[in-house]
Amino acid sequence: MSTSQASHKEPSRKKIQAIRGMNDLLPAQSALWQYVEGHVQTLMKRYGYAEIRTPIIEQTALFKRSIGEVTDIVEKEMYTFEDRNGDSLTLRPEGTASCVRAAMEHGLLHNQTQRLWYQGPMFRHERPQKGRYRQFHQVGVEAFGLEGPDIDAETILLSARLWKALGLYEHVTLELNSLGSSQARAAYRDTLVAYFEQHYALLDEDSRRRLISNPMRILDSKNPAMAEMLDAAPRLMDHLDDASHAHFEQLCAMLDAAGIGYVINPRLVRGLDYYGRTVFEWTTTALGSQGTVCAGGRYDGLVEQLGGKPTPAVGFALGIERLVLLLETLELVPDTARGELDVYLLPMDDSANAAALLLGERLREALPALRAQVHCGGGSFKSRMKKADRSGARLALLLGEDELAERSVTLKFLREEREQQRHRQAELAETLTSLLEGDPVA
Ligand code: ATP
Ligand code: MG
Repeated sequence: MSTSQASHKEPSRKKIQAIRGMNDLLPAQSALWQYVEGHVQTLMKRYGYAEIRTPIIEQTALFKRSIGEVTDIVEKEMYTFEDRNGDSLTLRPEGTASCVRAAMEHGLLHNQTQRLWYQGPMFRHERPQKGRYRQFHQVGVEAFGLEGPDIDAETILLSARLWKALGLYEHVTLELNSLGSSQARAAYRDTLVAYFEQHYALLDEDSRRRLISNPMRILDSKNPAMAEMLDAAPRLMDHLDDASHAHFEQLCAMLDAAGIGYVINPRLVRGLDYYGRTVFEWTTTALGSQGTVCAGGRYDGLVEQLGGKPTPAVGFALGIERLVLLLETLELVPDTARGELDVYLLPMDDSANAAALLLGERLREALPALRAQVHCGGGSFKSRMKKADRSGARLALLLGEDELAERSVTLKFLREEREQQRHRQAELAETLTSLLEGDPVA
């Protein structure tokens, strides 16, 4: 028998692993994600933004036409493939294009304004590292049909409120810039190209390529050898058209009035072609080079570019992985976001199993916020106690022969040096309430 036949008969037992740069979200982390997502959902309701959910896959042309052919995303990062019909499809690398496509397709932009938000996985074939993955998750906000700086300010205020709710506001910086009108950008582009040509020797390979395709992106370069030359480059801020200038001044005044601090960063250009006028990023120094937590701006030309009527629009997207990393790095994860149990109900032997299940149900009726788990699966008393300890719960509620006979329960502290207590089952809900709320564990 040849080896190829043998391997054909016996399938490989090698374990199959997840795709590089694509993460499983494990139980130990999911409570923190839910905590962040819960804050996001509440926030969107409070500002009157409605959720939109679109497919994860779209026609490739949608991203090429919106994000731009000569951007990093479209040139090298998209997961593009042919489906069985031969159509070119792409796993969405970001959410704005899909959101615009859906809003147009369903007439949501027809003579009306929209304030929308979305969340979900995005896909980019980047080099995986801390804070940078190939499947990552964004929350995004998009507002359509509003052209004034008030809506720009609102989206920024909304994001600021999220940082405040999560305790992050002091740890992030708002960077602002204006990219002006497309005419102003075109004129500035010529000025900029002339400047870069004068300093051609200093440009790295990437920048030389961009000099032809997308010169403004050179300003975004993180190459330290180019830093000084880029700082001295002509600024679009000094070449803005009057209307964009006024728009930017008004936005700044609104942020000032709301007490939101910012720094103007004339080199902030963003990596997607559809932006114009306002652009902004919320950045942190706590995450190394993946320091942008949230990024966005105005994209008044995009709807038209995708075949719709001219529609002003502004939005942002934030990366949940980076937000979660930041909360962990700064030790801002509250106890409620750790997914811990309050109580572990422990039948001391099998004769108490049913009673433990029932007591669990009664407690959940009485205390909707209680996080309770009932021991299942039998075992010796010793192994049951071990499970209780490992559950991470603060309290064990023990049910044995005596407890069943007198309708009581033994309450044992699992994480504190404290005498165990015996309580009547009828009073248990009250006891737990005062214990868990009035006397949180240190
Ligand atoms: P960066 O400059 O870090 O590559 P970007 O400009 O490509 O970011 P956007 O496309 O504006 O980012 O996406 C908005 C947010 O989504 C980013 O600020 C970041 O928090 C998050 N994000 C983008 N790409 C990734 C990724 N590969 N992995 C994790 N988060 C990401
Ligand atoms: Mg990127």
